[in-house]
Amino acid sequence: MRNPDEVKPDRKAFEASPPPALKFEVEVDRQGCFRFPAEILEKLGAGPGSRVRVVYENDQVQIEPDLHALRRLYIEPTSGCNLRCQTCIRHTWNEPFGSMSLELFDRLCQQIKELPFLQSVMLAGFGEPLFHPDIVAMVRKLKEAAAVSVEITTNGTLLTEDVSRQLLEAGLDRLWVSFDGTSETSFDDIRQGASFRLVLKNVQKLRELATGMNRPLAIGISFVVMRDNIDDIRNIEELIREVGADRVLMSNVLPYTEEMERKMLCLLALTCETFANLPGKPRISLPRLDINYLTKEPIYHLLKGYQNLFMINNAISAPTRSCRFIKDGTTFIRWDGKVAPCMALLHEHVTYLYGLERRVKPYFPGDLNDRSLPEIWSSPEYHDFREKVFRFDFSPCHICGGCSYLEGNEEDCFGNTFPVCGGCLWAQGVIQCP
Ligand code: SF4
Ligand code: SF4
Ligand code: SF4
Repeated sequence: MRNPDEVKPDRKAFEASPPPALKFEVEVDRQGCFRFPAEILEKLGAGPGSRVRVVYENDQVQIEPDLHALRRLYIEPTSGCNLRCQTCIRHTWNEPFGSMSLELFDRLCQQIKELPFLQSVMLAGFGEPLFHPDIVAMVRKLKEAAAVSVEITTNGTLLTEDVSRQLLEAGLDRLWVSFDGTSETSFDDIRQGASFRLVLKNVQKLRELATGMNRPLAIGISFVVMRDNIDDIRNIEELIREVGADRVLMSNVLPYTEEMERKMLCLLALTCETFANLPGKPRISLPRLDINYLTKEPIYHLLKGYQNLFMINNAISAPTRSCRFIKDGTTFIRWDGKVAPCMALLHEHVTYLYGLERRVKPYFPGDLNDRSLPEIWSSPEYHDFREKVFRFDFSPCHICGGCSYLEGNEEDCFGNTFPVCGGCLWAQGVIQCP
């Protein structure tokens, strides 16, 4: 018998085509070798002499891209911003704010032509990209320089109709908008200086323009969850509909003060390894289940305390001690041309863990004012750093919190030296960036 509360099938959603997957059959020859199609090799960042990693686990084979193929680039147009969000780590900076010069940006556009595996460029960093007066020109120049997807992460306040039209004409592929709330009350309180109504109106106008201009533009929502706004998630589907988003990316807040640490919602997850994928622990595979008054408590119990959970063949648990930036072949360019391996090492900042202050120093394997991006990326220093972080043999400071090494990222009790990644919250899966 049908449950009267059951959601009726939505025919449109049912008929919607799934995202295109690349699927091929390859033939194994007498020597046990097979050839990958060119499209797959390109996605893996694999050319002659490349090394990809083959992982056989849970009866599945996974092929991981070459660590040393630069596939995703973040460019910080400016570290300036028109807002003063509660969640912003810029509150802890001593360094001057600045914007990238067009002369430097033009040089960079020439250099990206030499990166054969580059797939996407994100204009984002610590600052508001639309605060840069030449942001539209930046999008256009990138699209002219290479066949890459261009994305921007914005607070949405400066997205006037005119700017929206120009960004679409320049060829923007995806816009991520920060919505740290689904209601006026929490949004306006967290994102000081912004208005929920205005940002929503701006994004809706952009979408309307994109449709009118027949420009395919994807929209994503970036959401920082904490105690103050976790309840807003109940209304996320309404926000998704209102802005026409196809993705939502949630992150915990970066705890740059003790007060912010108290607002985090992952302290137990960090210490008890909730959702962690621990090898060696028996695997529990769940079927599809109703979520109702009978099942919610037992499911909650499993999710909370058990580490090796699957649904059919899909792992529910999150990887820890693993750096997405390194695995995805990503690098960051700061507004002044300094090249960093990740968001965490782009600017000096303070974080708190278990009430202890940790000052994270930036790390730059190179500077575009001295060398080109391909030279910096292939330098032995940057190559070795990627290998080291991939192995992630750093001390587990996120579950220890027990000594003075935790005060900075200069060394750890395993004997590693600057920069050490053991206390990095990105690597533990609690902070994530679009
Ligand atoms: S919009 Fe972004 S850069 Fe600006 S204050 Fe808010 S969090 Fe910081
Ligand atoms: S360096 Fe070692 S002892 Fe010190 S906090 Fe990290 S894991 Fe604990
Ligand atoms: S583990 Fe953290 S600090 Fe280390 S490279 Fe990755 S994001 Fe940066």
